[in-house]
Amino acid sequence: MYRVLVGLIVVSLLMACSKEESQTGEISSTPETIYNWRMVTTWPKNLPGLGVAPETLAKNVKKMSAGRLNIKVYGAGEVVPALEVFEAVSQGTVQMGHGAAYYWKGKVPIAQFFTAIPFGLTAQEMNGWLLHGGGMELWEELYDPFNLVPIPGGNTGVQMAGWFNKEINSLSDLRGMMMRIPGLGGEVFERAGGTAVNLPGGEIYTSLQTGVIDATEWVGPYNDLAFGLHQVAKYYYYPGWQEPGPTLEVIINKQAYESLPEDLAEILRQATLAINNDLLAEYTARNNAALTELVDQHGVELRRLPDDVLDKLKKISEEVTAEIVDDDPLSQRIYQSFMQYREGVVNYHEISEKAYINTRD
Ligand code: CA
Repeated sequence: MYRVLVGLIVVSLLMACSKEESQTGEISSTPETIYNWRMVTTWPKNLPGLGVAPETLAKNVKKMSAGRLNIKVYGAGEVVPALEVFEAVSQGTVQMGHGAAYYWKGKVPIAQFFTAIPFGLTAQEMNGWLLHGGGMELWEELYDPFNLVPIPGGNTGVQMAGWFNKEINSLSDLRGMMMRIPGLGGEVFERAGGTAVNLPGGEIYTSLQTGVIDATEWVGPYNDLAFGLHQVAKYYYYPGWQEPGPTLEVIINKQAYESLPEDLAEILRQATLAINNDLLAEYTARNNAALTELVDQHGVELRRLPDDVLDKLKKISEEVTAEIVDDDPLSQRIYQSFMQYREGVVNYHEISEKAYINTRD
């Protein structure tokens, strides 16, 4: 009798389970929507660092979403030219892009604050402003009318001042020089007497080789070595006053972003923030070995920009930075937020990062 009772209970429990299983089975058998997206970039396909980061992002998103969000990455020129990434994502030609906000200065001058301002913030400081200092909210507000959602997508750390074929001993040595130097750095360079051009990375080597430009800045040793810039210029100057900690951007078409289920949207956001960190780590780990190779094996002449040149560039930078702020209230809020944050962080870093680095050295 007891055995029969136990048997009945077991059978009814099993039935209950199988019923539940079949219910669950029905839910999970609903076909999952698979999102197949395209991401265009401003970088040559698979360029170390910059070009590999979006590939890593796509790979990680695929893994984390168990294949529900697949992003195919395109290098500059494969779908649209490098400097048309903003437009392509804004219009929904593709769902995503990877580049830098200062490339769009012709369209949105104030966007340059979200990449780099000459003598502005370091990578660590940029991340602080964007992620915990109110920067992100302003960036989102700025891009909203363009139908874009921005997320920080990498940082190179302090860049190099660039490649020159003559020595820079005074500001007048820049006069008449044509240099590839994007963003506000380019405007400062123009006011110092030069001509600035905004060429995408993939066009730099040939332009310098053929004399279309006289000088260029690109990133730092790791990326500059990959481009072979030492073959077309003799002097390699530091520090990169024009880009002390440029933030790269991932931009997502707003409708595409809003069409994602909540979990996929969060996976995409977190995976992007992961490359934001990872790229900086990669540059930090690789730059010195590349610099050693440039100097020891390729005979590159490493030079520091003279102090008085840097002082003058800094003075011009302050003027130029203030001038891009127009009557638009948002533009003024971005400027004020950035400047207020900079004052605070510089003040604190005086007795922390800077004091420590000075002590260590
Ligand atoms: Ca640069």
